[in-house]
Amino acid sequence: MSDDKTTNKIIQINTISKKSGDYIAECPHCKDIYRLIGNDLSAVRGTRYLHSACDGWLVVSKTARFIRNLP
Ligand SMILES: [Zn+2]
Repeated sequence: MSDDKTTNKIIQINTISKKSGDYIAECPHCKDIYRLIGNDLSAVRGTRYLHSACDGWLVVSKTARFIRNLP
């Protein structure tokens, strides 16, 4: 359970934000800010992304909250 660097595990994220016109989220694997491809919230929510920097999969929750600034 301690191997959160395992890259084949898809981790759900529940908060997203926006920067310079792009949706962003904190990668749950490497904690880097990840730029989400998608034009609007409905396109981003429920979508799986592969973070190429760490080969980690993440999925944006269908009910992910939009926040102005990531913590
Ligand atoms: Zn990552």
